Amino acid sequence: MNPASQPSSGSTGSAHSPRTAVVVGAGIVGICCAIELRRRGLAVTLLDRLAPAEACSAGNAGILAAHAVVPIGLPGLHAQAAAMLLSRESPLVLRLGSLHHAVPWIVRLLRTANEPQVRRTAAAMKALYGSTVARHQALAAEAGVPELIRAQAGLYVHPAAGGIDLVGGLAWQLRREHGAQFEVLEGAALREAEPALSPTYTRGVRMGPMAHTVNPQRLARAYAALAQRLGVSVVRDELRALQPPAGGSGPVQLLAAQQRHTADVVVLATGAWTAPLLRPLGCRLPLLAERGYHLTYADPGFELNHVVSEIAAHVAVTSMEPGLRIAGTEEIGLADAPPDWRRAEVLHRLAQRMFPGARLTQGSRWMGPRPGLPDSLPAIGPVPGAPAIWVAAGHGHLGLTGAPHTGDLVARGVCGEHLGAALGAYAPSRFM
Ligand SMILES: Cc1cc2nc3c(=O)[nH]c(=O)nc-3n(C[C@H](O)[C@H](O)[C@H](O)COP(=O)(O)OP(=O)(O)OC[C@H]3O[C@@H](n4cnc5c(N)ncnc54)[C@H](O)[C@@H]3O)c2cc1C
Repeated sequence: MNPASQPSSGSTGSAHSPRTAVVVGAGIVGICCAIELRRRGLAVTLLDRLAPAEACSAGNAGILAAHAVVPIGLPGLHAQAAAMLLSRESPLVLRLGSLHHAVPWIVRLLRTANEPQVRRTAAAMKALYGSTVARHQALAAEAGVPELIRAQAGLYVHPAAGGIDLVGGLAWQLRREHGAQFEVLEGAALREAEPALSPTYTRGVRMGPMAHTVNPQRLARAYAALAQRLGVSVVRDELRALQPPAGGSGPVQLLAAQQRHTADVVVLATGAWTAPLLRPLGCRLPLLAERGYHLTYADPGFELNHVVSEIAAHVAVTSMEPGLRIAGTEEIGLADAPPDWRRAEVLHRLAQRMFPGARLTQGSRWMGPRPGLPDSLPAIGPVPGAPAIWVAAGHGHLGLTGAPHTGDLVARGVCGEHLGAALGAYAPSRFM
């Protein structure tokens, strides 16, 4: 048994100089935290009720979004959201059963939709996500799967010829200010760049440099295997409650379904299930599931040359090992509500419109709960009043992108390295 899950007598560290850590949640974020804590010499247990990468990290669009600097809450969202909520084909959906959770979340989101706040958020996003490609390339090479990372530009299209405003649009201004490079493709140049795309799209913007993984689940599982080779114990158990040390010293107790675990430090990387675990500690994180869907077509008859994003529909289409994947939808609600496959049908109709010559018959469908905070930034840092318990959750649309850097920040912070202001924008305490 790994020392991290032994009784408290086995632990001689403390929250200030920890020797043992339990990372709860073996999604892409928890796996990266476990790797980085282990590199710093801690005995690490990675605890999950499921096998690694079975939840939200299983089926995403795979984009390593180094230029993700645009939060959901942009000025103008108030009007757009109202229109979207009234449309049956809309990418934005509220689950009726979750309205009492979703409405306060949306109110907070709308409060962030002003330019000064958006600019601050963009800088914090760039700081966390900007280095993603190099970090994933290094990890994938170490994990023995370098072929899973593919450097390819993104192509952004809109059904209206003038739908992408590179000059006046705040989103594009922010991307440019934070170092993205653009190339406008029109008519024949767009056809040549992406021959399978419907000719109804007449203008596109190529953005780079960018990369994606061709198999997010295989990538995350390879990272989990790397963690085990480095000495991390992977344990199947379900955390029910946390007990911080009485009087501030001693290990944290983890009350789980199978057994009681203890550790000097606990990292909660429990994705969309994090908020209820924090509530008994007095930490109220407004974290909800931003549920997304994908359809993957095994044999579409072509490979894309880019990750193609349809801006009006808020979807991304990626050529992957399992096939052509169309992924999107923002269904705000609870993680465990059953999937509403009508959302997947909307994606299917869109795929037919975008790629009219494609074979879109043999496919699989999937729903994943993105862990979402209303200001589009994750929560990374210690729980207020419980310094031995850290949160690493809430990356929303960008958890794959942000996982390696998050793991690094968590491990450095837990081990007492001075991070200056690096964690300030992500502090869980910002909502209290
Ligand atoms: C359609 C779609 C497309 C996306 N595309 C992209 C993309 O292109 N690029 C990108 O960067 N991101 C993308 N994302 C977002 C990304 O997938 C998520 O942000 C990321 O997977 C979240 O990872 P996580 O480790 O925080 O959560 P998860 O992968 O959900 O892992 C959380 C883990 O915690 C475990 N857990 C929870 N509670 C407990 C408990 N009490 N005890 C034990 N274990 C527990 C769960 O079983 C789970 O394994 C997309 C998401 C969706 C839905």
